Amino acid sequence: MTADAPAVQAHDLIKTYPGGVRALDGMALTVAPGTVFGLLGPNGAGKSTTVKILTTLARPDSGTALVAGHDALRHPDRVRRSIGVVAQRSGADPVATGRENLLLQGRLYGLRGAGLARRADDLLARFDLVDAAARQVKTYSGGMQRRLDVALGLVHRPEVLFLDEPTTGLDPEARTAMWDEIGRLAGDEGLTILLTTHYLEEADRLAERIAIVDRGRVVAEGTPDALKGELHGDAVQVELRDAPDAVDGHLIATALGEFGGVRDVTLDGRRLSARAEDGPAAVPHVLATLEQQGVTVASVTVARPSLDDVYLRYAGRRFADADSGTAPGAGVPAPAQAAAPANPSGGAR
Ligand code: ADP
Repeated sequence: MTADAPAVQAHDLIKTYPGGVRALDGMALTVAPGTVFGLLGPNGAGKSTTVKILTTLARPDSGTALVAGHDALRHPDRVRRSIGVVAQRSGADPVATGRENLLLQGRLYGLRGAGLARRADDLLARFDLVDAAARQVKTYSGGMQRRLDVALGLVHRPEVLFLDEPTTGLDPEARTAMWDEIGRLAGDEGLTILLTTHYLEEADRLAERIAIVDRGRVVAEGTPDALKGELHGDAVQVELRDAPDAVDGHLIATALGEFGGVRDVTLDGRRLSARAEDGPAAVPHVLATLEQQGVTVASVTVARPSLDDVYLRYAGRRFADADSGTAPGAGVPAPAQAAAPANPSGGAR
């Protein structure tokens, strides 16, 4: 692989599972070497299927995939030697010790003797597992097991490391520790990391570039800041007491959009979203307009743009709504500022 060739390049991947589920529908991505790239999307978006194809565990119906300079479809063996994979489910042997797992994994990749022992010790130190090295893995905490999983993926010094949902199931403390580890790894030896996640915060924090995936394809791509920067102004969210019918919803959206600073008004059930150059300043107008329309407001929040807003813009729905598997509140950044209480007078219909 030449120094500036992409570490991963996939074009137009299509994958349909038996039963007709179209898991990938034109998936494409390019990952620069030495970077952390985040594949972000709700459950079912197609992230794991993409990773399975790039790691040679599945074949697409059509499309191309180059990984570390090798064709994943024509030369899967070469790809396998160049990559490390940390799957969602741990591959560690629970009755072996952490150190034994590392040595076994190294042997599978042809490492031997003092070189392998040194590599295992380095990784144990780096992942803060020295004290637990001689303990059976089944005695490890979730965070320790996850750190060992990442260490196992690195034994043979891969060029590209695939991390599939690296912090799913970890408690907040272990998640933060894992984020620190991944952040440190990224600076190392030109390692490229392709991270899949359904945590907005995780992608925002770790990835230099993000591709937002929805229904088997990339709907937006860029640096987290650039993606958020595309959305000028604040997000204004209004929870209505009752969902208006389609005709009323249209009238409400039109009335709100007539105010100068408010745009992109969308209504999804009881949740009304809009953007405003100055969110807090727009709130009185929004409340007054809703009252005129006879709508009762339950709450209003104003927030700086988040990746969730980016997702809403490109996928047309909220991340949390699309992702039924996300724990309540997980990964969705809290609003930066909460403005205005619920409309006190309401406005009965
Ligand atoms: P993600 O990793 O983003 O959660 P997946 O790639 O696992 O998404 O899944 C994409 C879609 O393909 C989903 O609708 C999922 O139910 C479906 N799918 C995944 N694996 C299989 C399979 N082995 N057989 C049938 N459908 C599958």
